[in-house]
Amino acid sequence: MLRIVPVSALPGGMLNAYVLIHGREAVLVDTGLPAHARKIGKVLAAEGLDWGALRAIVLTHGHIDHAGSAAEIARLSHAPVHAHEGDLPYLNGQRPLTRPTGWFGRIFRLTGMIERPYARVAVEAPLQGAADATLSFWPDQRLTLVPTPGHTLGSLSVLTEDGQVLAGDLLSSGILLGGIAWRSRTQQPPFEEDTRTVVQSLRTLLDRGARRFYLGHGGPVTAGQVQRHIDWLIRHRL
Ligand SMILES: [Zn+2]
Ligand SMILES: [Zn+2]
Repeated sequence: MLRIVPVSALPGGMLNAYVLIHGREAVLVDTGLPAHARKIGKVLAAEGLDWGALRAIVLTHGHIDHAGSAAEIARLSHAPVHAHEGDLPYLNGQRPLTRPTGWFGRIFRLTGMIERPYARVAVEAPLQGAADATLSFWPDQRLTLVPTPGHTLGSLSVLTEDGQVLAGDLLSSGILLGGIAWRSRTQQPPFEEDTRTVVQSLRTLLDRGARRFYLGHGGPVTAGQVQRHIDWLIRHRL
């Protein structure tokens, strides 16, 4: 059995990483900001696990709030890091594109927080183009890494066999950055590189049976809420 345990990298669900636990092993999806390794280590410890239990680290994309502690956790755990080739420039220190989706993104961009540099991390066999990758070290519970571009060119989602999906920043829910309040209310994250591609990627996940969406900011939300978000994006943002 697979359990999805959220790590509150910031309070109120404002920033989430996730530990997927299977028996005495785990996969980490996203790593929070720089210096967040300790928060993730605490969640592992509460489950009776240590860094050696990590089989893989998956980065949904290369923004600092998701990849910021990847290098440190890779060093602590010796686990391979998986990401999509489209975000390798960000993982190698290039500043991200920050196209604001509204007033909060415009103000947030002024803080420069999202563009701060963080420790570079080596990625093992990056995903290429639209091709999936599978993590199959658990024969009864394979994890599929699905390219879901849009928020960034190299965003990916982690899909379980029973329709749970860790979708990074493809959408968020709540208010401001995400989380805090009204967590079932979906919204666009503060930045998005290509909204049309986001819509395609969300449809891909629904078509592939995603039922419950775990998000980098806020969430989780249901497939129905995601469908309504798609309809809203088409009506108001395309
Ligand atoms: Zn992001
Ligand atoms: Zn984010």
